[in-house]
Amino acid sequence: MTTNGKRLVYADNAATTAVLPEVLEAILPCYKENYGNPSSLYSIGTRAQETINSARETVASLLGAQQNEIYFTGSGTESDNWAVKCTAQMMAKSGKRHIITSKFEHHAVLHACMALEKEGFEVTYLDVYENGIVRPAELEAAIREDTALVTIMYANNEIGTIQPISEIGAICKKHGVLFHTDAIQAVGKLHINVKEQNIDMLSVSAHKLHGPKGVGALYIRNGVRLPNFIDGGAQERNRRGGTENVAGIVGLAKAMEIACMGIDKNTERLTKLHNRLIDEILKIERSRLNGDRDLRVPQNASFCFEGVEGESLLLYLDMEGISASSGSACTSGSLDPSHVLLSLGLPHAVAHGSLRLSFSDETTDEDIDYIIRVLPGIVERIRKMSPLWDAIQRGKIDKDYNIIYD
Ligand SMILES: *Cc1c(COP(=O)(O)O)cnc(C)c1O
Repeated sequence: MTTNGKRLVYADNAATTAVLPEVLEAILPCYKENYGNPSSLYSIGTRAQETINSARETVASLLGAQQNEIYFTGSGTESDNWAVKCTAQMMAKSGKRHIITSKFEHHAVLHACMALEKEGFEVTYLDVYENGIVRPAELEAAIREDTALVTIMYANNEIGTIQPISEIGAICKKHGVLFHTDAIQAVGKLHINVKEQNIDMLSVSAHKLHGPKGVGALYIRNGVRLPNFIDGGAQERNRRGGTENVAGIVGLAKAMEIACMGIDKNTERLTKLHNRLIDEILKIERSRLNGDRDLRVPQNASFCFEGVEGESLLLYLDMEGISASSGSACTSGSLDPSHVLLSLGLPHAVAHGSLRLSFSDETTDEDIDYIIRVLPGIVERIRKMSPLWDAIQRGKIDKDYNIIYD
């Protein structure tokens, strides 16, 4: 892509994606023609209701669910909050007040768990180790009599590592514990089947897969009588009040359909690009790839460069037309390094020099070439001005990368 003749490489698809033209086309009639209230009786309303029904069927079939197990929400964050907080509320009635999650969940899950801790729930935060993957045996050992919920993300949004979801699903089923997964970085990238994988609840967000912002879905298995997160009208079978975001819902279904149909083709193509990128970037001295080399989605590559400050890296990259991030968009603006990188055991000083490059089916070979060409020079330029890099070169650092002054 170019603007004003300048090359533009969008490599922050884990933060959000561009809406596909086909999705936009599917959305427009919801505003222009079928703008009626879906709960009304005249035809422009009933047509809106029909489009919602068909979107629900699409989303359900792509997840291996039944259509009455899909609830549309206002965002991925809302889906996560509904699943975590309302499961806790429901299970507390039978004395179950323990939740198992991981240290590197998205803040939508992590902060929901922390809010529950303040209300007296107990939360176990499982380690993800250096490779960024939860260990199922450790998860099983953490299950107690009073465990209400296990919530583990499908693929991590900062480093792309894939969690052993089927194994975790089987363990939860064996112990009769409810299992939720934040699959926001996995839907449309990996093949998912909620029944085969024993998933009780699963969160989706449209804008991470070329759909519109502000719309998500939560799959709730039939039989799980989750309390309402939003009380109101009879929408979403009485469980999530509020006039439906018809255009958003239609956009979510369309985007999900296109993404899911393209999984095999995109995975094959992006795996090649992503492997080439990783091989080339790791030639940079004292650089590392964050998370497992193989158990990852090819849409994501996260690196750390010692002696580099992540923010400067992003600014220099932007000057060259590359949009990237240092971690989750939600942590930028804060000076703390990302909780995800710290959970891998990286020292603060190393976690500060992070770069997340995230791709989509729109990413081209030329985009990757361009990043490979531009990035090493930028890292070198920043390191020339870095006292930490100078100290690293002279061996004047301790194990936490603090500079040792003589
Ligand atoms: C983006 C994201 C969310 C939040 O979704 P929104 O629709 O932006 O609220 C939650 N979890 C993960 C893993 C994400 O990547």
